[in-house]
Amino acid sequence: MCSAIRYVMTDRISEIIASYHCRVMAMPFVPTTSYGRSSYGHNGIATKFFLTLLFSDKALSLEFLYDVGLLLSKFTCPTCGNSMVLYAEPKLKDGYRFRCRRRIYASRCAGSMSIKHGSWFEHCNLTLAEVMFLTYDIVRRVPSHAIQREHQFGSSTIANWGQYCREIMLEYVKGSSQRIGGPNKTVEIDESKFGRRKDGKGAQWVFGGVERESGKTFLVPVQDRTPDTLMTVISDWIEPGTTVISDCSVAYRDLEAHGYTHETVRRTIGFVDQQTGAHINTIKSTWHHAKAYLRAYNRKKDYIYDLAQYMFTARCRAENVDEFTKFIHIVSNRDWSHPSSHNDAAGAM
Ligand SMILES: [Zn+2]
Repeated sequence: MCSAIRYVMTDRISEIIASYHCRVMAMPFVPTTSYGRSSYGHNGIATKFFLTLLFSDKALSLEFLYDVGLLLSKFTCPTCGNSMVLYAEPKLKDGYRFRCRRRIYASRCAGSMSIKHGSWFEHCNLTLAEVMFLTYDIVRRVPSHAIQREHQFGSSTIANWGQYCREIMLEYVKGSSQRIGGPNKTVEIDESKFGRRKDGKGAQWVFGGVERESGKTFLVPVQDRTPDTLMTVISDWIEPGTTVISDCSVAYRDLEAHGYTHETVRRTIGFVDQQTGAHINTIKSTWHHAKAYLRAYNRKKDYIYDLAQYMFTARCRAENVDEFTKFIHIVSNRDWSHPSSHNDAAGAM
């Protein structure tokens, strides 16, 4: 029904944002700024103010959504197969609808389609602008209470869209994971317990590795910390020939046999080995950031989704791309005729 011929790269989305930034700046009511500074977005990075101005003009914002690929621009009529045309309909919240209007004898085909069909915006009663604001805030990690104060969304709307966005991030980080390490590369590995309950129930061990040279990271929830489990994860995620640094846990005793160079840190004297200088400070720092991040959200369960957002943000930083631009890129190129992978949280990120 929808023609999904679209693939827009992250760079291309930045260019599109930059070009709309110029058009928004030309609006008559945009305040001037000192020293040529811009609060509307620069270098192809969108700000909330940019979105607010953009979505004050329904036609301009719609054009933007078609350009970045967030909305599909071509539909064939579900009734007769004719191609449909976009009509302005001021009574509708978003102001537009696709209609067929093909002449059939004395009458016309009544086929019509929501502009949200087959997109990120489908199946929700919020306007296009509201979905964009909500998505923006969630991706930019604005706290729920601040989103509520600014937009008056219900707390369940915010929670649902938060979950929805983080499912996309989880799908992305799982689908785009790359093995790290290799000859002349050093990877620090470690395990850490996530989940804050004192009785230990609901807690989850996470195994992680960080490539020092690039900062590339993987985090994998594991059922236990037996040598078999951990060696399987290591073989899956770290290239042979890598220098792997860990603590002295017996779980890692077979690393050399599996083709890795192994250095250890004796934990009793801190995270730096006094004799060899080996340390696992980078992975320790990852745990620190990830846990601080999860605490900020104060979530007791579903930490896997928050961890996914943490990983998503970290990956954007490593790639030097803006996370909202990246998120638009992922959502634009996703096929919305298939539902997201709900409850498929197991596996590596
Ligand atoms: Zn038709």
